[in-house]
Amino acid sequence: MTIATQLPRTGPWAAIDRSAISHNFSWLKQRLRQEAAGGPVRIWAVVKADAYGHGLSETMPALQNADGLAVTTLGDVLRLRREGWQRPILLLTTCGVNAEEFRAPSLGELHLVIDDIAQLAKLERLSHRFGAPRSRLHAWLRYAGRLGNLGLDEQEYTPAFERLLALKARGVIIEAGHLHHYATAEDPEALRLEREEFARVVGQLPGPRSTGNSAALCGELPEPIVPGQHWLRCGLLLYGASAVPGITGVELGLRPSMSVHSRLVAVRRIRAGQSVGYGDTFRAAHDTCIGTVCIGYSHGLPRQLWENGQALVGSDGRAVSFAGRIAMDCLSLDLGPDASEQAGDIVTLWGQAPGGKTLPVETVAASCGTIAAELFTGLTPRLPLIPA
Ligand SMILES: *Cc1c(COP(=O)(O)O)cnc(C)c1O
Repeated sequence: MTIATQLPRTGPWAAIDRSAISHNFSWLKQRLRQEAAGGPVRIWAVVKADAYGHGLSETMPALQNADGLAVTTLGDVLRLRREGWQRPILLLTTCGVNAEEFRAPSLGELHLVIDDIAQLAKLERLSHRFGAPRSRLHAWLRYAGRLGNLGLDEQEYTPAFERLLALKARGVIIEAGHLHHYATAEDPEALRLEREEFARVVGQLPGPRSTGNSAALCGELPEPIVPGQHWLRCGLLLYGASAVPGITGVELGLRPSMSVHSRLVAVRRIRAGQSVGYGDTFRAAHDTCIGTVCIGYSHGLPRQLWENGQALVGSDGRAVSFAGRIAMDCLSLDLGPDASEQAGDIVTLWGQAPGGKTLPVETVAASCGTIAAELFTGLTPRLPLIPA
């Protein structure tokens, strides 16, 4: 993503509010303080997918209080180190990385997620060939659980963990922990079962645990935290969006960190019965004004958004409906017969209109059958990020 400083004259852009990310991090910390009566819980702030589309470099300074950052590529680890992140980094998969690459001291305290026996064997080879690495490696064994796509199953888990303990004894890794990623955290009963299963599999094995995702943290059930040695992982909430249906981030006390804007490029008056857009999908029921906005699916807006979605026009954020299909570079809005808006006026596709009115990204996502995380990460590099 490109970072720009000036608002484009025609649009579109995504305004990134770092202070909202800091606020949301503090919100999370506060919430966990209430839940973890037994001792502090550490937080991995998940910044994969370019910090959920917010720009990794833009976001890092807002997460200075996080205990560590979680990413999915070694490239992101190196970038964070180059940009000055000194605390731990969690690499969410070890696949595709050569064992020798983990030896670089510049990686600092690096936590690796071990997804399968092949990745475990890679760490073992590292120690046989080179002795203890000069980076500070920690390893987390992933339990596959209900998600079932990565990680070890119940039978494999304990023997694999014992191999990690042997690596710890030899000084190859500093610590070995247990990691679980929930599949059904939106449903309290299913979540309870997932947690029970993980607790049973880990049993009395030593080592820290890492659980949690945003959906688990949105619900009523507190996360079962192992005092003093729990690392909680959280992504979406940090960006101000709720991860469960029926409640928005704003209602939870979070602040939206991304607002997507563009501008009206033209306002046209049309007569009742006239159509707008490809495929004849919108036909005016009465005389009205059509506002065309410079943003479309090539910037990452879902094409289906026009059917049930809304956008906010102007500084005060008047909510209006779409008129016809979203095109590659533009879309049209039904501004109504008495519209006073004109070319150049700001349109807000989600987030906060200049005057403060908010269209929650979760509402937009629900109106086109997707989730906030997909909207955030679906934005293309054609949309510059601008600090709010
Ligand atoms: C993406 C991811 C998270 C963060 O999930 P959110 O629902 O965005 O909080 C946590 N853990 C793992 C392993 C992930 O891949």
